[in-house]
This record gives sequence, structure tokens and C-alpha cells, in this order.
Amino acid sequence: MALAQCPSCRKRVSSKATECPHCQFVFAGHSEQDLEREFIRIQQEKRDKLVSRSMLALLIAIAGFVYLFLQQPMPETWQYNVAVGVLVAGLLWFVVNRVQLLFVKRKRK
Ligand SMILES: [Zn+2]
Repeated sequence: MALAQCPSCRKRVSSKATECPHCQFVFAGHSEQDLEREFIRIQQEKRDKLVSRSMLALLIAIAGFVYLFLQQPMPETWQYNVAVGVLVAGLLWFVVNRVQLLFVKRKRK
């Protein structure tokens, strides 16, 4: 039994499968070109989603930073802890999305 690559998740699937057992992507009725186009479309969607999510994460980080900068809460108060938490979480989320974005881009042909 030959193995093919799922155009959606890029995992190995049987070439005789009608849908991907990993992500439930349906192959049936698609030509090779359709599948390739579908793959590019899905990659594009993933990129768009990651870009907008990373922008949101950056906004959250900036909001935390602006609050710290303008309000200058005393360290050890809950306002300070929340603002720092928001800032760090936003930055981390931003970095995670950026790394995922690189990964999506690298898989492109
Ligand atoms: Zn799949």
C-alpha cells in the first residue's frame, strides 16, 4: 500500500484513504492539483490566523506596558503583578505565534 502525504497536516496517510485519519481532511473527488491548491489555501489561512493572533498578542503586551508606564503601580501590588503578567503573557504569546509562523512558512514549497 503506497503512502501519500496529507495536504492539510502533512502527515503520512494511505494513498487509498478517502480522508486523513489525523485531521479528517477529505481527499475524495480532489485531483492532485486541487489538493495542492487546498494545501496552499490552508497554509495561507494558518498564516493569516497566526499573523492576526500575534498582532493581538503584541497589543496585549503593549497594553500591559502602557499601563505600567502611565500608572507606575508600586511593585508587589496586585495592579503591578497583573500588568507585568499581561505584558509577559502577551510577549510570550507573540513569540509563540511568530515561531509557529516561521514553521508554517518553512513547510511551503
Ligand atoms: Zn491530515
